[in-house]
Amino acid sequence: MNKKLISYKFPQTSLNFSVNSPANGKKLASLPIFDANQVQSSIKKVVTGFENWSNKTAFERARILHKWHDLILANKQDLAKIMSAESAKLMEESLLEVEFGASFVSWCAEEAKRAYGEIIPMPNGNRGEVHRQPIGAVAAITPWNFPLAMITRKVAPALAAGCSVVCKPSELTPLSAIALLNLAREAGIEDGVFELVFGDASMIGKEFCASPALKKLSFTGSTRVGKILMEQCAAIMKKVTMELGGNAPFIVFDDANLDLVVAHAVKSRFRFSGQTCICANRFLIQEGIYAEFVKKFAAAVKKIEIAPLINSAAAEKVSKLVEGCKKEGGKVLYAAKGKAEMPTYYPPTIIEAVTEKMEIFAAEIFGPVATLVKFKTAKDAVKLANATSYGLAAYVFGTDLRQASKVAEQLEFGMVGINESAISASHSPFGGMKESGIGREGSHYGIEEYFETKFVSINLM
Ligand code: ADP
Repeated sequence: MNKKLISYKFPQTSLNFSVNSPANGKKLASLPIFDANQVQSSIKKVVTGFENWSNKTAFERARILHKWHDLILANKQDLAKIMSAESAKLMEESLLEVEFGASFVSWCAEEAKRAYGEIIPMPNGNRGEVHRQPIGAVAAITPWNFPLAMITRKVAPALAAGCSVVCKPSELTPLSAIALLNLAREAGIEDGVFELVFGDASMIGKEFCASPALKKLSFTGSTRVGKILMEQCAAIMKKVTMELGGNAPFIVFDDANLDLVVAHAVKSRFRFSGQTCICANRFLIQEGIYAEFVKKFAAAVKKIEIAPLINSAAAEKVSKLVEGCKKEGGKVLYAAKGKAEMPTYYPPTIIEAVTEKMEIFAAEIFGPVATLVKFKTAKDAVKLANATSYGLAAYVFGTDLRQASKVAEQLEFGMVGINESAISASHSPFGGMKESGIGREGSHYGIEEYFETKFVSINLM
């Protein structure tokens, strides 16, 4: 690991926490636990930073963001190594995440120059102007499953819009965040424009939400914590963007191209061992293709190698869900061998005969477990798919595109892939309906979240 990339002069604190490898428990680093006063100092810094940053021209901000992007890519190998060390992500997945994370920075750098306003024809002859102004200094709280991309997906649009950001990364994966911060400084993103804080999540969350100096909170994480934060923000009507949990249905119709289905099904369920919020969580398979799907899917799953989970609590949670499902009548079709020496590892598993009544059907599994449900008609598939409080991503596979797009319209999910599972990108809106969140990230919709719309009516007489 490149130690220079992960060393940064944070304030002196009396308490520290350690960052450990999920694969072997080895200590990777020790970091400061900020107290409430130190969090407040960081908030003050970004308030000052906002004044400087928002006064730059959009072209200057774009130039600096492009530089940050280039530095991220120039350090791709080191960033991927840091990410793999702290999250146990497979190296090839970490490399892809660095590229994915960098893409938000370049896309937003380009978009920074296009923050156009509007002139509205006015009945009284006034000039009606619509301005898009940066919302101000903002806060971000990010998770461990995409230690780099979840930060750039928030920080890049915020900076593009002219905002400054104070971010609390997950305490499980703070090193990628530090590396990003160092590269940001090298690119010209100065002190106060992007800051990091570490420590007690609940205390930091309260400080962020209660501070009138921070005009917005963007959060990615569990629905449970999202609800706490939203409630806290409500006290001062703080704006929020919430990217929360998912329970994605993966619908396969009888006429689907099975080879395509299986390739996407394996990727979508087992990427980062199933620890992503848009992972296929429930496989809904039409009865005519069911037997053949099971055969091909199981054969493909038997060949995969996956990373351990983020910690042993995560492995225990998945194990509990599977044991519960077995008791409720689920049939294990395949379970790979566990690794006794690695308590964070949970083996790839496929369970059949899953029903709507089971706990596993309602849960965001966040592990390498595929649950299979058989259905008869398209109407049944839509009903099953929507039978969840989540509404993030859904997938539909079938060659009859008329049927597939009709179904897509009826799905209560913010993103739908038809014969496609790669649906997250810098140029497209990512976000959920129902309890999966509020607002969008990526694309111009994502940048819009960091602007206020101001109407100015000018009497020219
Ligand atoms: P996950 O289950 O994926 O870890 P969490 O919602 O627990 O999701 O965590 C996502 C982020 O939210 C992390 O940075 C975590 O430290 C932070 N977090 C957890 N609890 C709170 C809280 N009460 N207030 C603010 N942030 C929190």
